[in-house]
Amino acid sequence: MTSPIRTAQRTAGIRYAVRDILKVAAEAEKAGKELLPLNIGDPLRYDFAPPPHMVEAVQKALKDGRHGYAPSPGTPEALAAVRRWAEKKGLAGIRDIYVGNGASECIELALTALVDRGEEVLLPNPGYPLYDAVLTKLEAKPVYYPLDEANGFQPDVVAMEKLVTKKTRAIVVINPNNPTGSLAGVAALKGILEVARRHGLPVLSDEIYDAIVFDGLKQTATASLAEDVPVLTFGGLSKVYLACGWRIGWAVMTGPQAVVQPWVDAIAQLARARLCASFPMQSAVAAALDGPQDHLPGMIAKLQRRRDLTVEGLKSIPGVSCVKPQGAFYAFPKIDTTEPDEPLIAKMVRETGVVVVHGSGFGQAMEHAHFRIVFAPPDEVLKKAYQRIGEWLSKRKS
Ligand code: PLP
Repeated sequence: MTSPIRTAQRTAGIRYAVRDILKVAAEAEKAGKELLPLNIGDPLRYDFAPPPHMVEAVQKALKDGRHGYAPSPGTPEALAAVRRWAEKKGLAGIRDIYVGNGASECIELALTALVDRGEEVLLPNPGYPLYDAVLTKLEAKPVYYPLDEANGFQPDVVAMEKLVTKKTRAIVVINPNNPTGSLAGVAALKGILEVARRHGLPVLSDEIYDAIVFDGLKQTATASLAEDVPVLTFGGLSKVYLACGWRIGWAVMTGPQAVVQPWVDAIAQLARARLCASFPMQSAVAAALDGPQDHLPGMIAKLQRRRDLTVEGLKSIPGVSCVKPQGAFYAFPKIDTTEPDEPLIAKMVRETGVVVVHGSGFGQAMEHAHFRIVFAPPDEVLKKAYQRIGEWLSKRKS
């Protein structure tokens, strides 16, 4: 064989801006810029670590010889711990639970089991790009419903309902949201459930950041608000338990048994084909969920301080506005310009070394000129980053 291998067309439309921006960052580094990476939602790159009892649980699993394959849905201990987690969150009528290699794999299994070529799924805009990537791979169509920036990035339920067609198969909710850090209120969640109910649609509720909320607020689980609507709730060890490299996530199916059973079966069929999630790492699930939660107050206080520093730092820059994030570790500021965001942010990354991701990487129209900041890095890094962004923007104006 001499000619280059022809690859599948389905890969052509797949984008993942969070990592694609690294090419631009590499150019900046080559040009001698000190990089300030504010682009990847991995707190482990900074001054965070998983609780020691989780590390011990994995070490013990390895010592105990957990080197083989685990059951496809997950180990009985991990599944039982996730059930308790779900019950504590108020999820009513649990029909199924499965553990995957990250929430990412759980999401991919769920969509693959549900959606056929040409069908549509409603996604929040802005939102986490994995959903778009998976749907593109499935040759299905992501359809974006807006989060209303003027209303603290709450889901616009009226606009959402207008997007429902005969081809719509599901609604995705990300709460708290990546990239806005917004927390969906109970009214918005009830509105979404009402749309789902009216049109016979299941909801995929991504709650991977559920315990990372600020200002004493509380996240509400979508599935705690309705027993009659099928909801698949995602969680995991990556964010709340600071172990994203361990690749453990889970999904909890709720809703009327007869309605959800075919989806449960199809997911289980796919899960068997991919064998299992990492056996030793699943040992951390019960340790994390049932063990001490004392890392949480310190982690939340640190992130809240960095959130405040971020909002103040950005607001002090003329021509930049920023909705205050209420959870996760992302802010989604806006630059007052009509320039398309991708080349603008690439230029900013190249010339300042501050690595952030353009808003259109999260489904936004380019002219919205947003960018996403990960505010998990230490205070000094954030301060330096906002100073550089401020200087760069003021130089451009003059
Ligand atoms: N869902 C959202 C909203 C995320 O932001 C991320 C990661 O950033 C994931 C899912 C992926 O989670 P996991 O590491 O468990 O695959």
